[in-house]
Amino acid sequence: MKLQNRFFKTGAIFLAAFSLSACDFNTEEPTPEVTLPETESNGLVFMREEEKLARDVYIELFNQYDIQVFNNISRSEQTHMDLVLEMINKYGLEDPALSEEGSFVNTDLQKLYDDLVSQGSDSQEAALIVGATIEDLDIRDLEAFKAELTNNDIIELYDLLICGSRNHLRAFTSQLANLGVTYQPQFITQEAYDAIIAGEHEKCGQM
Ligand code: ZN
Ligand code: ZN
Repeated sequence: MKLQNRFFKTGAIFLAAFSLSACDFNTEEPTPEVTLPETESNGLVFMREEEKLARDVYIELFNQYDIQVFNNISRSEQTHMDLVLEMINKYGLEDPALSEEGSFVNTDLQKLYDDLVSQGSDSQEAALIVGATIEDLDIRDLEAFKAELTNNDIIELYDLLICGSRNHLRAFTSQLANLGVTYQPQFITQEAYDAIIAGEHEKCGQM
């Protein structure tokens, strides 16, 4: 055990010299020089931009309607983007996120962003449906990527993001309910949706 520790420490110093993220280097576990399987790295790169899509759509809709829920949730999406970025850096992947709001490298996400902003611009009700739609999609995508994962740290991250999305879906659903509108899930099943809505607001990894 001791020998092994010493080995890791020596390895750590060696690696730290070449690592950009030397500051948060953890000496208790060997840093994965491991390259992620392609599905896992593609998932992280995709989710980084999907979280950005959520943030940017909410910023845009907040500018249009001044509905507070968009402001609050766009901040939470920034946190989600930051968490995915940490993982992207940890595994030495290239960050796809452009600094400009509303701009995406992934052309499908660019089209989705344009469509959702245009839909949301119709009315407050349409904007809130767009919010619920994004969370609905987010949960579906995260669950799908999660099913392919073997790395525990990425599984934990996705669980945290899914938890956040459940809260966001509850928030948009209750705002819609105030307008007398019932959201129909488009990506997750009605059963899964009902179970989420029946649940309470969650803390999602916070103490
Ligand atoms: Zn999110
Ligand atoms: Zn969200």
